[in-house]
Order: sequence, then structure tokens, then C-alpha cells
Amino acid sequence: MVLRDDLLVLCGLSCPYCGRPTMLVDDAEIYGRSYGTKSYMCKPCRAWVGCHKGTTKALGRIANKELRQLKHQAHGSFDPIWQKGHVSRSEAYEILSIALGLPIWQTHIGMFDETMCRRVIEVSNIILKYVKKQWPNKLSVADSFLLNVLPES
Ligand SMILES: [Zn+2]
Repeated sequence: MVLRDDLLVLCGLSCPYCGRPTMLVDDAEIYGRSYGTKSYMCKPCRAWVGCHKGTTKALGRIANKELRQLKHQAHGSFDPIWQKGHVSRSEAYEILSIALGLPIWQTHIGMFDETMCRRVIEVSNIILKYVKKQWPNKLSVADSFLLNVLPES
């Protein structure tokens, strides 16, 4: 499986809702004051995404209100897997890429649409239970996760 959206959408340069190019704006445009970062925005669709600090490289696709909330929830479900020290951050994303059947370069919550964010929320609980149980043994987490835990879908 790969994300079907084109690269311009995944990189925040094109609006997935109306198809128009996005605009690079100062974050003051969105939050009313500047935090020193830039964002890409589609004003008519009220959708935006921030950039990596000090760059004009977007964190992912631009998101409307619904998707911003879902991305927030997806991080809330997924981030504890690595924040609690069960596995490293890169290991956690490796497991997520296997669980979702996505290439690692596309395994970024910032690139995900509503459906993919909901899947992250679903699989994160399974992953978290798994790494809690397995990680003390330092088994090959990603491989055995695929073999042992993930239900057939
Ligand atoms: Zn738009």
C-alpha cells in the first residue's frame, strides 16, 4: 500500500480540498502572533500546516479543522509508544510502517488523511501492548510484531 495523494499534497504545496496551490505564510497569519515559524495555507479552505522550525519545509499535508483534530488524536495514541521509552522513536515508526503496510518515507502522521489517522489510532493500542511485553527481551520487534500480533485485515 502507498498513500494515493500526489507529492505536492503530501509536501503541503497543494490543497487536497480544492486543488489549488497553497501559500507560504508567517504563522502570525494563523495564530495572530508569530512564533517564528512558517506555514503553508489555503485560505478559502481554512486549512494549513506548519513547517519544520527555521525552514520552509512543511510537516506534511495541509489540514482542515477535522483533520487537525484527528492528527492530534493520532499523535496522542502513537507518541506514548516511544515517549515512554519502550522503543526508540525511529523503531516506533518502523513498527507503524509495518502495521499500516506503508513505506517508511510515507509513515508520517503529518502526511495522513482522515482515514489513515483513524487507522493510526486503532493500531497504536495494539503496538503499545506489544512493545510493553516484548521490548524487555529486545526481540526483533518489527518482524515479530508483524508475525505475531497484527490481526489479518
Ligand atoms: Zn483549498
